[in-house]
Amino acid sequence: MEVGGPGFVVMAGPCAVEGAEQLELAARAVSQAGAHLLRGGVFKPRTSPYAFQGMGEPGLKLLVDAGRRHGLPIISEVMETEQLPLMAQHADILQVGARNMQNFGLLRALGRLRKPVLLKRGLSATVQEWLNAAEYILAGGNEQVLLCERGIRTFETSMRNTLDLAAVAWAKERTHLPVIVDPSHATGLPSLITPMSLAAAACGADGLLIEVHPRPEQALCDGQQAMSPGDFATLMQRLPGVLAAVDRHLYTPAGPAQIAGAR
Ligand code: PEP
Ligand code: MN
Repeated sequence: MEVGGPGFVVMAGPCAVEGAEQLELAARAVSQAGAHLLRGGVFKPRTSPYAFQGMGEPGLKLLVDAGRRHGLPIISEVMETEQLPLMAQHADILQVGARNMQNFGLLRALGRLRKPVLLKRGLSATVQEWLNAAEYILAGGNEQVLLCERGIRTFETSMRNTLDLAAVAWAKERTHLPVIVDPSHATGLPSLITPMSLAAAACGADGLLIEVHPRPEQALCDGQQAMSPGDFATLMQRLPGVLAAVDRHLYTPAGPAQIAGAR
């Protein structure tokens, strides 16, 4: 699968894997709507140590199985170097969370792998710090790095974070790396996910990472920002129009032009 080519890639699923039923409903919904990858955290970096920390290894097994059932590769966060052997064996993309963007030991260890890494921008990181973090992975010889803009902390408090779309265009202009936008953590508000996703597509992003939950009000993590399956399906129908305006299209697997070697 090529990320960063003409095909726009959508990764979607719950913030956290919570159980077999929740994940199955989420996976079915996002695959039916046309998502390309299934997301789900099993190791969760929570602000409070008393909040749900993720299901760990049993959750990873559920994620792998759900991905297989629905034909979707999976993306999941790795928080610590000790989790790498397990995560690298099972996840198709390893996510580095915003809070770990400058965990240089973890970045170096990821640089020794030959697996795609999605590197989220830190909560208050400059673009230059973000690119230097990516450089730690690249310097180890792992060339499969995806940048992810997920909003930064500013004086603005109406939204969870401030989505920096100019940084997306900037990174596209000055690096060769694909750039993904996470409008869920960037805004914290489900009603803003659709407009910001369309804006991301328009400004040159290579894909999206979106939190979708079958029952947002019951979510154990980030429920207040979770998109409903219905709204996600509507977004997927609206993306092609915006993408066409900037000479892009939704990724389609197995087209001859889409098959690429390791990127
Ligand atoms: C997440 O993707 O669920 C997550 C924890 O994101 P971030 O690291 O951007 O806060
Ligand atoms: Mn989340």
